[in-house]
Amino acid sequence: MNASKADTPIIDLRSDTVTRPTPAMRKAMAEAEVGDDVYGDDPTVNRLQALAAEILGTEAALFVPSGTQSNLCALLAHCERGDEYIVGQTGHTYLYEGGGAAVLGSIQPQPLDFRPDGSLDLVQVEAKIKPDDPHFARTKLLCLENTQGGKVLPLPYLAEARALADRHRLGLHLDGARIFNASVKLGVDVTEISRHFDSVSACLSKGLCAPVGSVLCGKRELIDRARRWRKVLGGGMRQAGVLAAAGILAITEQVRHLGEDHDNARQLAERLARLPGLAVDTDAVQTNMVFARPERLSRPEMERRMAAEGVLIGGSGSDLRLVTHFDFKAEHIAPVVEAFSRALRA
Ligand SMILES: *Cc1c(COP(=O)(O)O)cnc(C)c1O
Repeated sequence: MNASKADTPIIDLRSDTVTRPTPAMRKAMAEAEVGDDVYGDDPTVNRLQALAAEILGTEAALFVPSGTQSNLCALLAHCERGDEYIVGQTGHTYLYEGGGAAVLGSIQPQPLDFRPDGSLDLVQVEAKIKPDDPHFARTKLLCLENTQGGKVLPLPYLAEARALADRHRLGLHLDGARIFNASVKLGVDVTEISRHFDSVSACLSKGLCAPVGSVLCGKRELIDRARRWRKVLGGGMRQAGVLAAAGILAITEQVRHLGEDHDNARQLAERLARLPGLAVDTDAVQTNMVFARPERLSRPEMERRMAAEGVLIGGSGSDLRLVTHFDFKAEHIAPVVEAFSRALRA
């Protein structure tokens, strides 16, 4: 991991976005064949897009600079001005993307609380679908998130969401930033998840270690519309094959390491749960995220104390969030638990 100025090793559990490109990625990036991707001329981008579409089982895929832009391109491709999409109250596209759909697309969000398992209650969703009446925005799209706070949506639920979308002629988008964590956890091919959706956004730059980028996958016609929006949003990149080369290794090589991140998260949660003064719901740990609530200290205070121990952690509200990833190995678990133990006492 990083070395701080004082040469104390830093263990960074704030997010899986902190992963750096692997040596194999660096090599592939250096050697990537490139062209101008706005002209469709970059062979490495084209290869990544073809591969992503094949792996997710969709007609087409689009390489975009970020997950945020990927979701926004999807929302803009599904919806028009005055349309509405139904989304989780703490869904990334609604809460953590600067309101982009409303700001740039005049698309109204209809947020609903997530249930504890990360799903949206489909009865509530159905009740929020507006009738065709000029008083209302036109409900066009349902957006789910998988994983949601590290939790995996059950496959039968996805089928029910698909049926609901079909009944009401809604599009169905998946913010699948961590869709590969979900498929690895379920032990199924990722297409078992993606096949239910009209569009799926998957991040390459989180646990999969690519330095930059996401892929938006879906029907060709939808992806063609998204490609126009990507250009409008300033996401038309030129010799992007240098980045796509890392993305190719992300979805072919790095996916197979995600199971280790999940094992490490579980180990970490179980050991943290034994510490007095810290509440950890170990049953909630399904993939690479651990949530822990300090019982006597505030979250920011705990973050400060842990940072002084050389362990970086994030969170929101009163919960700390620890995210395991490729650069966090099993041997880092003990030092983190010891640091927690000291920080809780100090
Ligand atoms: C990280 C994340 C995104 C956005 O990805 P960026 O590349 O950071 O823009 C979208 N959705 C979810 C669920 C995420 O975790």
